[in-house]
Amino acid sequence: MNLENTLTFAQQQDQQDPLSAYQDLFHQPVINNKAVLYFTGNSLGLSPKAAKSYVNAELDEWAKWGVEGHFHATNPWVSYHEILTPASAMIVGAKESEVVCMNSLTTNLHLLFVSFYRPTKQRYKIISEAKMFPSDRYLLETQAQHHGFEPDDAIIEVAPREGEHLIREEDILATIAAHGDQVALVFFGGVNYFTGQLFDMKKLTDAAHQVGALAGFDLAHAAGNIPLNLHDWNVDFAAWCTYKYLNGSAGNVGAIFVHERHGENTEIPRFGGWWGHNKERRFLMENQFEPMNGAEGWQLSNAPVMGMAILKSSLDIFQEVGMEKLRTKSIKLTAFLEFVFNNVIELFPDINLEIITPADSNQRGCQLSVKLEGTDKRFFQALTDAGVIADFREPNVIRLAPTPLYNSFEDVYRFGQILTNLLTSWK
Ligand SMILES: *Cc1c(COP(=O)(O)O)cnc(C)c1O
Repeated sequence: MNLENTLTFAQQQDQQDPLSAYQDLFHQPVINNKAVLYFTGNSLGLSPKAAKSYVNAELDEWAKWGVEGHFHATNPWVSYHEILTPASAMIVGAKESEVVCMNSLTTNLHLLFVSFYRPTKQRYKIISEAKMFPSDRYLLETQAQHHGFEPDDAIIEVAPREGEHLIREEDILATIAAHGDQVALVFFGGVNYFTGQLFDMKKLTDAAHQVGALAGFDLAHAAGNIPLNLHDWNVDFAAWCTYKYLNGSAGNVGAIFVHERHGENTEIPRFGGWWGHNKERRFLMENQFEPMNGAEGWQLSNAPVMGMAILKSSLDIFQEVGMEKLRTKSIKLTAFLEFVFNNVIELFPDINLEIITPADSNQRGCQLSVKLEGTDKRFFQALTDAGVIADFREPNVIRLAPTPLYNSFEDVYRFGQILTNLLTSWK
């Protein structure tokens, strides 16, 4: 299709967009009395308008029942996490028994490492991406140390080649093969938070299994962004947060995936808590932890219902739309942003802005990362002042994530206009 950087074209796209009505299901932020262009769904998703009524319903149940709400609320709290499972399973391409919402992302990764990073003297290395999200890097360092290994020895980072921004898949595969039977785990972000590069999780999983290692993924930037197929890809485990593309609200409950071949093995070592115990016998208060089958067997604590109610309001929207339609729009919307962006910066040959995210839509989600060469954070600040909410990552990258649920083609067009005005006056 021929793209055009015009308001008419953008509005036509919005009219033809089957998801355009969903924008109205979300509160659009107004900052300094001005509606902003919100491109940070990769950092904190917007608030579904329905969230309040979902939470109020649970507050009413609490007021009405007190502790009895655990059994008598409309959605009984003892099993509240279960109502989040069908949508979560759909979003990551899993069986319902393979996912559960619990705790938060970094906590969950540590718990999963307890089960799936059990290094030996011979097999202890973790292959991962350079420039990981810091929390993931700290996870790897402290897990390695916890098992008595030096992080620099145990963590093998695959980095972009000199002068490149993206990690070549062939380099990842070669690194896994090179370390062979020393590899305990291949651990990557599904989509890299910094560059927006999407990794082929099936290929990495196959490569890990080939050398006798396991494969785990942090899906913070993948869940709700791209369709996933964790079960069929044979991924061993994964975890994600729900406050980015899944609009679950700041710091809300995370989620895990454990492939059923592990989930059905209740012999796998883990840290236990009462919510992971055989639910028929949970309230008998006996000794002797007996883990449930499936991902639920990794739960520790009873469900934080109020936060989960917010998440439910968003997951209901995902379930209604489905990942296919979201992805179809997302590919178009991001391609339009890329087009508009490149169209604008062509007019300013002296200014060095470059998209470092892969140009191939099969290798990215909705996010585009823009490198500012020769300018600095002031440029980002000016963009913010002009009403664009994006985010800045040191040393010099702006991330823009138009999300298909609540961003429009017109948003993208307007961003291009703001960018043009800014560059015209930029020194
Ligand atoms: C957002 C994000 C986190 C944040 O972890 P929390 O434990 O939820 O604070 C971790 N890793 C990645 C890759 C992220 O994108």
